[in-house]
Amino acid sequence: MYKICVLPGDGIGKEVTVEAVKLIQALAEKHHLVFELEEDIVGGTSIDAHGVPITDQVLNKAKAADVVLLGAVGGPKWEGLDYAIRPERALLKLREELGLFANLRPVKVFSSLVHASTLKPEIVDGIDLMVLRELIGGIYFGEPKGVETLPDGTQKGVNTEVYTTPEVERIAHKAFELARKRRKKVLSVDKANVLESSELWRNTVVDVAKDYKDVELDHMYVDNCAMQLIRNPKQFDVIVTTNLFGDILSDEAAMLTGSIGMLPSASLGEKHAMYEPVHGSAPDIEGQNKANPLATILSVGMMMRYTLNLPELADSIEKAVEKVLEAGFRTPDIMSEGCQLVSCTEMGEQVIKNLD
Ligand code: NAD
Repeated sequence: MYKICVLPGDGIGKEVTVEAVKLIQALAEKHHLVFELEEDIVGGTSIDAHGVPITDQVLNKAKAADVVLLGAVGGPKWEGLDYAIRPERALLKLREELGLFANLRPVKVFSSLVHASTLKPEIVDGIDLMVLRELIGGIYFGEPKGVETLPDGTQKGVNTEVYTTPEVERIAHKAFELARKRRKKVLSVDKANVLESSELWRNTVVDVAKDYKDVELDHMYVDNCAMQLIRNPKQFDVIVTTNLFGDILSDEAAMLTGSIGMLPSASLGEKHAMYEPVHGSAPDIEGQNKANPLATILSVGMMMRYTLNLPELADSIEKAVEKVLEAGFRTPDIMSEGCQLVSCTEMGEQVIKNLD
């Protein structure tokens, strides 16, 4: 029996999670497994109900589960709030409290979707890379931070990029372990030509690499990497980088696939794990049944593979998605000529229908 804590969040997070839950239930029935699903609220929905983006009760529920499935949080309604109680704080708190230091974002282009990308098909066809982002360190957490008013009445805003050797070591180990199961190439991305914290990052990754002589290690400055991702993305296997650089590069890599609605992610710690689509709550399409649920559905696939140890279920989800795309079903974000436009609900149903 597996206990899954489901946190749909806000906006389309709620819509795509419904489809993921139906898929989990269908898999349970098909494979005679028991998934105990416990749903609760986070983000703006929790602010409206409890005044905070996540309650201690929900945090405890997440900690008690085998795994967490999250939709997305945020929206214009809560944008004016203080940073300390904005919906996005729920994510930071979950990552911090569950110790989720490694964020895995696989970027794989389905051959039936090569034309959905804004890049030329020959550039994107065959892309299979993994962005590994450090998730609970760096500038998003470093102290000092804040905005202060100076004696002359102007203001000063500060955030601090901080990394310690153990923090870099554990994410570097993760990168090499992942690369061993893939094409055995790690690229560490930093800004060591300018930032001292990046120099520490680079030196530490080089030290960790000594334990993985079978894996090739390269380094790239983040500005060059941003360019190379567009110029020749097929050169990459595992890209490991800091919280801030990973946040930006993974969204850039996302667009190689054509839509952010296709990208799953996993956040792993020593004891806990959380799976969520890369996209946000998409207020522009909220409530219209237009969201692409495939990122969340593929996140369920990653959950089966990396946490629940059910690789055959992960394979069957990925194959079902492939079949549905090959059959020409498309939500508006990936729509192209000659294909059949479907809603979020219909896309979810098609995936279930195509499970082995
Ligand atoms: P977004 O990812 O929500 O949307 C960006 C664009 O992509 C929009 O045009 C949207 O319609 C489209 N899109 C996103 N997901 C899609 C899907 N599944 N299917 C089809 N189209 C999709 O990013 P944003 O607009 O910058 O942010 C909106 C809100 O979401 C903000 O409040 C932001 O803070 C929050 N956000 C949350 C997360 C998260 O919960 N992990 C991540 C990013 C942004």
